[in-house]
Amino acid sequence: MAHESSTAKLSPEQQIDALREELRHHEYLYYVMDAPQWTDAQYDARMNQLRALEAEHPGLITSDSPTQRVGGKPKEGFAKVAHSRPMLSLDNAYNEEELRAWGERVVGGLALAESVQYVCELKLDGLSLALQYEAGARGVATLKTGITRGDGTIGEDVTTNVRTIRSVPLHISAKKLEEAGLPAEFEVRGEVVLPQKAFERMNEERVAQGLAPAANPRNAAAGTIRTLEPNIVAQRRLELFAYFLLSGSGAGDAAGEPLLSSQSAALQALREAGFLVNPHARTVKSIDQVLTFIAEADAMRDSLPYEIDGVVIKVDAVAQQRRLGFTGKAPRWAIAYKFPARAGITQLKGVLFQVGRTGKVTPVAALTPVSIGGTTVTRATLHNPDEVVRLGVRIGDFVSVERGGDVIPKITEVVSDASHPRGEQEIVFPTSCPRCGEGLVREPGEVDLRCVNVSCPARLEEELRHFASRGVMNIEGLGESMVAQLLGHTLVEQSEAASLSPVSASSANSGLDENALDDAGDIAEEPTRKALVHSIADLYDPEKVNRGTLLMLERVGEKTADALMEQIERSKKQPLQRVLLGLGIRHVGERTAQALAEEFGSIDVLIAATEEELTRVNDIGPKVAATVREFFSNERNLALVERLRGYGLTFTAERKVRGTALAGLMFVLTGTLPTLTREEAKERIEAAGGKVSGSVSKKTSYVVAGEEAGSKLEKAQQLGVAVLDEAGLLAMLG
Ligand SMILES: [Zn+2]
Repeated sequence: MAHESSTAKLSPEQQIDALREELRHHEYLYYVMDAPQWTDAQYDARMNQLRALEAEHPGLITSDSPTQRVGGKPKEGFAKVAHSRPMLSLDNAYNEEELRAWGERVVGGLALAESVQYVCELKLDGLSLALQYEAGARGVATLKTGITRGDGTIGEDVTTNVRTIRSVPLHISAKKLEEAGLPAEFEVRGEVVLPQKAFERMNEERVAQGLAPAANPRNAAAGTIRTLEPNIVAQRRLELFAYFLLSGSGAGDAAGEPLLSSQSAALQALREAGFLVNPHARTVKSIDQVLTFIAEADAMRDSLPYEIDGVVIKVDAVAQQRRLGFTGKAPRWAIAYKFPARAGITQLKGVLFQVGRTGKVTPVAALTPVSIGGTTVTRATLHNPDEVVRLGVRIGDFVSVERGGDVIPKITEVVSDASHPRGEQEIVFPTSCPRCGEGLVREPGEVDLRCVNVSCPARLEEELRHFASRGVMNIEGLGESMVAQLLGHTLVEQSEAASLSPVSASSANSGLDENALDDAGDIAEEPTRKALVHSIADLYDPEKVNRGTLLMLERVGEKTADALMEQIERSKKQPLQRVLLGLGIRHVGERTAQALAEEFGSIDVLIAATEEELTRVNDIGPKVAATVREFFSNERNLALVERLRGYGLTFTAERKVRGTALAGLMFVLTGTLPTLTREEAKERIEAAGGKVSGSVSKKTSYVVAGEEAGSKLEKAQQLGVAVLDEAGLLAMLG
């Protein structure tokens, strides 16, 4: 690097400052601009350099250093703090008429012929936070407190957790403040959201740990921001979108008032100061233009990486906001336009029983088609027998159906009033598998009914769909109807309503159960032609699936057949982790498959691994280890692996090289370490071949204790487990 020679002449303080500035800039590029210029390794190298310097000069550590994102944890709960000015809720509008009425009230509250501008912003479905910044040394602003909305007047001080959100600046330089036109003391309000991806990952982990999945990203974000473990908050990848800019507490009576003269200027200043501001915001001059923005927001709702439930409209000019004032609790100068609830009422016509990949039988509601948020819904999940009992639902009932972004529609309640009479027919669960006739089993402690016949045709169908899906082997063109045809079904083009009516609990069992919950074409009851495929491996068997046999299927032309053959051929190159995922081993999701591939490097080593060796892999517990072991003990599964190997699928992977310095040792981390975060300590231990566990037992080799170490340290002392400090750990890491 060009300036390395000059840094050598700088004082440690200057070097630390320069490193921090660089790191902050690259954090900003990564987390706010989503345009990283450094690789993770470059970032880590610089961070370690800073950490080393700070360790040498502990007097120079400040709370706004990038090394200090995860600090000590709140001792007992969160302190209650009063807001500078109440965090108000907004009035709602649910349709165009209500929005126009609001627009007229705004215009009516201002002088004649005064022009009004409105700022439209997405209404993020998260939770509101207030961040207070205070003046630090040399004209910088540093994060002082982060407070939840609470009851609007008093919130909770969640600063330690807010600090872990990477899009929240801990430190804003004097230069940036000047560019943004901000003083060093101010307040920012914004919305914390858990992006959809992070939400799904969190639920995948919860399910793997045997916990109930969180209901929606908003609840998950709210729960996360109030956990007492800043490490967990840091891992969850919350984001904060800033939308209000207010005067700081030093402003006396004006504290908590808008800092700039308009909302649009505030959003611009927040952006320039380095905050994450939602890019979908627009300043407009009329309610018609507001409606256009709303329509656009509604159209992109499903493709956004986070959930929104409407649009917030604010009068732009603060002078006008002041004149309009407040009605009781809500400002007159702003309104929340709420998108129509994604729910509708329709009639339950019957219940189908769908048999899944693991043999699980799911009751699926067949509904009179109803349009919900622009999509026609004809099916909804009833989850399991317990859910049917909880809802008390009968066939013929009118039910309330809800749908979310990617989520399968679900029935939330039975609607019963004068115009919605109750249905009369009880839902009867089948005692034998609707596909193969084998008796269904409800295992103790499980809510689901299961078909335990491993050769049940329903399972193969789901196995194939899963295997071909995008996140697995990514075989384009091998969708639902192609799978059905490969299994010997013909396509039928009758309308769903006709094929389902009249439906009773018993007749619903017979045919349509193999259809998925989406609205793809129906499939005939019984296979009407010889199946091409009897196992996943048959896909690759040139005797069974080839251009000629594909061309004999319905609606398959040469183009389709060639494309599918090419896709199948190409899937042989998918890496081992995808193949492992494709095998459909219970509890083995994306992350677990990756860990297994990296750890064992080949299917043979994995097949030979004992449960104990499996549990040595990071993040694999005894439950997952047992199912993996069980899967590879089954002759049928081993034969499948052999056939796939014969067809040239990928069964080796690059092993992740691990050090051996800590091989075989089990560590438990507790308290706050002076320079490493807990996540970093864990990574370094694992990279050196060691393992990190959450609880102290006789198997623990070392407890690494930092400041405010609690019960784990006591337990280590009771059990006589060796205790290390960070320096001791670093020495072992070498
Ligand atoms: Zn079955």
